[in-house]
Amino acid sequence: MKRIGVFTSGGDAPGMNACIRAVVRAGIYYGLEVIGIGHGYQGMINGEFIPLQARSVSNILQRGGTILKTARSEEFMTKEGRAKAAKNLKEQGIEALVAIGGDGTFRGAIALYEEHGIPSVGIPATIDNDLYGTDYTIGYDTAVNTALESIDKIRDTADAHDRLFYVEVMGRTSGFIAVEAGIGGGAEYIAIPEEQTDYEEIKNVLKGFRKDKTSSIIIVAEGDEEGGAFKIARKVKELYGFDYRVVVLGHIQRGGSPSARDRILASKLGVAAVEALISGKFNVMVGEVKGEIKLTPLKETFRRRKELDPYLLKIAKILSI
Ligand code: ATP
Repeated sequence: MKRIGVFTSGGDAPGMNACIRAVVRAGIYYGLEVIGIGHGYQGMINGEFIPLQARSVSNILQRGGTILKTARSEEFMTKEGRAKAAKNLKEQGIEALVAIGGDGTFRGAIALYEEHGIPSVGIPATIDNDLYGTDYTIGYDTAVNTALESIDKIRDTADAHDRLFYVEVMGRTSGFIAVEAGIGGGAEYIAIPEEQTDYEEIKNVLKGFRKDKTSSIIIVAEGDEEGGAFKIARKVKELYGFDYRVVVLGHIQRGGSPSARDRILASKLGVAAVEALISGKFNVMVGEVKGEIKLTPLKETFRRRKELDPYLLKIAKILSI
């Protein structure tokens, strides 16, 4: 193999740049040419190909976002779109891809292989941490810490006014950010997509607020089955009469300089992806499980569900009394 492509796709996550840098430098170290592809799958269709050298990725390790840009491409969801992308990749002499993104990105990579024989190695980068085959995804640690900083600030004002706040964090299908930011921020209750929202329990934890607590914070994952923080807040008010304020943290959780953990994970997985490619291991995701690099077939990463740690759920309840 002589030439590989690297791209970022789907939702951006802090640490994507550190990962691009690792892929480029590891590729060059092992004697490959590395072509950056702008705007994910859309850039393959539009012909955004940028040859990258070791110095092209200087001074990006610490930056959020992605120098290659990212996109959600409707056109690539069609057979014709993928045919165009494959034709362009072949014209560029790109023999294999490193796909940095989440489950949608990996589905696209599988389609490209099945329809056009272009193989990929996937690197998990999404703030949601919802991929099977790795303990953590790139961007998750930074996102949790960003959420936590905001929760601390909200706690100050909540405490000053004796207020109940609902804080909505990201997590469309999973409660990883909600649970860790909730435990770290001392949340009174954490509403997540994996569990039915329990209004009786909310009533019980808010009894303490009525009695002697000076502030209360309920964390809600955006994908909670009740439909988000505003809906839960209104329902609790209707049922039990608690006034409230709602803060939706939104996209600030995606931005910012990646944490040390995310930079190191991104660096490790970037090198591991190139090493997998050159040893002919295709259509797998490189992940880290209990400190070891692990390869998981791309299909398994989204077909199997990564479970939340039940111990974390348990202690969140114990500590909210
Ligand atoms: P995140 O989890 O952060 O949102 P993601 O990689 O899951 O990241 P998506 O928007 O779901 O983000 O996917 C990225 C892109 O991958 C899509 O815009 C689309 O172009 C392509 N893609 C997604 N699913 C498929 C599929 N089933 N077949 C072909 N291409 C797909």
